[in-house]
Amino acid sequence: MRSQYDCVVVGGGPGGAWAAKHAAAQGASVLLLEKDREVGIPVRCAEAVGIAGLKAVVEPQSRWISNVIEGAVLVSPEGKEVLLASDTAQGYMLDRKIFDYDLVRIATESGVEVLTKAYVYGLIKQNNIVMGVRVQHMGARHDILAKIVIGADGVESRVGRWAGLKTNIKLNDMESCLQMTLSNINVDPRYIYLYFGQEVAPGGYLWVFPKGENQANVGLGIAGTFARYKSAQKYLKEFVDRQFPHAAVLYTVVGGVPCAPTLKKIVSDGLMLVGDAAHQVNPMSGGGIVTAMLAGKIAGKVAAEAVQAGDVGTDRLMRYAESWHRAEGKNHERFHKIKQAVYKLSDADLNKTAESVLRLAPEKRTLSNIFRAALIKHPALIFDVVKAFV
Ligand SMILES: Cc1cc2nc3c(=O)[nH]c(=O)nc-3n(C[C@H](O)[C@H](O)[C@H](O)COP(=O)(O)OP(=O)(O)OC[C@H]3O[C@@H](n4cnc5c(N)ncnc54)[C@H](O)[C@@H]3O)c2cc1C
Repeated sequence: MRSQYDCVVVGGGPGGAWAAKHAAAQGASVLLLEKDREVGIPVRCAEAVGIAGLKAVVEPQSRWISNVIEGAVLVSPEGKEVLLASDTAQGYMLDRKIFDYDLVRIATESGVEVLTKAYVYGLIKQNNIVMGVRVQHMGARHDILAKIVIGADGVESRVGRWAGLKTNIKLNDMESCLQMTLSNINVDPRYIYLYFGQEVAPGGYLWVFPKGENQANVGLGIAGTFARYKSAQKYLKEFVDRQFPHAAVLYTVVGGVPCAPTLKKIVSDGLMLVGDAAHQVNPMSGGGIVTAMLAGKIAGKVAAEAVQAGDVGTDRLMRYAESWHRAEGKNHERFHKIKQAVYKLSDADLNKTAESVLRLAPEKRTLSNIFRAALIKHPALIFDVVKAFV
């Protein structure tokens, strides 16, 4: 470890790994700091990604994939199943322990230096310009200077706050998640199942993502406002007892997912935020792996170019924020508005929607037709959705 780098990346998740890789590939000297002992552990994820999205950021490798998903089934509160007619529903179940580890390994091939068990506990700042990080590693404290610090420190990010950015989120937009990896269950490994309704996951959804014929990640996310009245744990236990009474629980994990639009400011002098730290999760699906990598790719490139140009000020780094906005940020604003409209629907509305979609030919059961059916009797909600596109 040197005492000075072009870029220091805080966090070894997909966002941090990809920011580090792309900064180093453009010629920057890069140090990636990860607080945990090993990259990829613990896994806090349901491990599903769309194939097209993943391929846009990295060439998938077979050792990352535990199951190939052919489609998604949406389940209404009264149990009607709608198989989505869409190629975009095809996905992979990843093994994130291997995936995250490999992304960082790939980053090292571009010259990234990595330090694990390296906890960043503060920023070095001068006149509000970020100049580096303070890190604790193996019991010793070090100051490391950096022309740019990239905060990819996940949903509990503190780097942005330390830099003075507003990182708070509305309670309603923070999905409170709990997931169990279950075995000794019967699932169709071809499909992921998403359950909706007040009884299973108010303000969110419950998922069954098969990792094979008798193993699945089963979890749910409920909006923070609902979690106050009944915990995610209670909702999940009731579902598992009902649906998979003989299941064995191999792994349990809790976590938050920021289902909000991207933070208003994701850069400041000498600093960029990436991934969950910047709230770059798709607010509809809660998926944040691919979006973190995409943001990391853009941020890494902009960071290296800024260092080469000798200008790491906010205006220059805004190129990252603008490019992200064009690539996904704008879509996320729309998805967030659509999400808010959809979650206003009652269970009766959802049941009726499922019934009318099931009357369509299977190839017409697309997401846009589902939204159309859901909102047709709700002019006020349609207005909310239309607002998303103007
Ligand atoms: C229950 C659950 C299920 C999910 N399911 C899916 C899914 O199926 N598909 C999907 O696409 N997304 C899913 N997500 C979201 C996805 O996991 C995240 O969006 C994704 O991991 C974001 O990547 P990241 O690199 O921004 O952050 P992370 O992957 O969270 O990585 C952040 C890293 O920073 C490190 N770190 C934090 N603070 C410090 C510090 N001070 N010093 C050093 N290191 C630090 C952490 O240890 C961590 O390794 C799920 C999330 C949850 C909670």
